[in-house]
Amino acid sequence: MLFLDEFPEFARSALEALREPLESGLITIVRASQRCEFPARFQLVAAMNPCPCGYLGASAPACRCTPAQIARYQAKLSGPLLDRIDLHVQVPALPAADLLHAPPGESSATIRARCAAARERARQRQHSASAPESKAPFQLAPAAAEWLQTAATRLAWSARSTQRVLKIARTIADLDHSDMILTLHVAEAMHYRSAINLP
Ligand SMILES: [Zn+2]
Repeated sequence: MLFLDEFPEFARSALEALREPLESGLITIVRASQRCEFPARFQLVAAMNPCPCGYLGASAPACRCTPAQIARYQAKLSGPLLDRIDLHVQVPALPAADLLHAPPGESSATIRARCAAARERARQRQHSASAPESKAPFQLAPAAAEWLQTAATRLAWSARSTQRVLKIARTIADLDHSDMILTLHVAEAMHYRSAINLP
């Protein structure tokens, strides 16, 4: 697990260097005539504020940043880098009262069991995909395929983006105990790419 807090504060060159290992699970270091490859498979988790002051979108206190400052801050993360991060989640600030009186959430054990069941479902599908009579590996319902195609065209997604949304939708369907990827699974997967969908 690689956790990068204050993501846009890292040097642009360091952030862009993440693209290769995120894609291939390897990092190549070239010095003089030497070239070495090292294993670099990791789960990237990154956190950032929406703007330099941190209050963009909050009701109070109001954001004090200028549009140019916000644009400069957000532009530190390139499209190709964001494209390689599957799940983008906005976490608005909670009022203290809501935070203190929130009901207890699910236990980690419950969530773990749900994830394990979804992984098992995926494993079994991959196993049966090698059989000659197997269906298409993603099992995308026709209406969901149409929805994805319309969204990909409208939002001008790269082939990589579209493929990644499809993989996320497959996982969401597995968590939902569904053999088919339905429109609601694709819609939820698209929602997790909100940082890219913004104009
Ligand atoms: Zn701000």
